[in-house]
Amino acid sequence: MILVVFDIDGTLADTNLVDLDCYLNALEKVFNISTDASDWEAFSDMTDSGILRDIFLSRFNRLPSDEERTRFIETFVGSLETAYSKAPDRFKEILGAGALLDELSKSPDYAVAMATGGWGASAAFKLKCAGMDINEYPFASANDGHTRADIVNTAIQRAEERRNETGFSRVVLVGDGSWDIRTARELEKPFIGLGDDVFFRSEGVIHSVPDYMDRDGFITLLGTASIPGPAEGKSKRKTFG
Ligand SMILES: [Mg+2]
Repeated sequence: MILVVFDIDGTLADTNLVDLDCYLNALEKVFNISTDASDWEAFSDMTDSGILRDIFLSRFNRLPSDEERTRFIETFVGSLETAYSKAPDRFKEILGAGALLDELSKSPDYAVAMATGGWGASAAFKLKCAGMDINEYPFASANDGHTRADIVNTAIQRAEERRNETGFSRVVLVGDGSWDIRTARELEKPFIGLGDDVFFRSEGVIHSVPDYMDRDGFITLLGTASIPGPAEGKSKRKTFG
């Protein structure tokens, strides 16, 4: 059985932009921090928890307290809820994502898990707005760790526990960001990119899809996708999540 581990923002839901806007809004509201996120590429972990930690270290020379983190997440989710009530089309499903998840999870040959660099509460909300239910799948989030590799490993472990299996024959990661590719390289997992194939090829990824409308084609890729090679280009994406 092949386990497919999906990132969420930009991979299952077209939510990178609204996610960033609401994260910045919550930073300003809760901590009075204004930033355009332009220096975030230098942060060690591009996850909601890692970004908050690195902002606190650089601005206040300390870590956020549990209370501060909780208040931030509540404000962030509130900001997402407001954004959805004003403009639900900022939370669109990536075409075909829900139907693909259904097909994979009903198949005896595949299992699905989700690994997001977002907080659990915000990820669940965004995915629900895009018509999918995170609770139907084993998942791990920024609540489980600061690094994407830790989060992906936790998601794989939870998928194994749910299936009562000690291991899958193959684990394929699916994501949209350069950090997703780095994680696949670090964990030596095959990877399928979601988005622009020129971007992915420059990052050493051979296999990518623009969306999930060609379900059979995507399922074929699950058997052939390979571990990303070295990045050749310098293209960057100013998205996160
Ligand atoms: Mg993403």
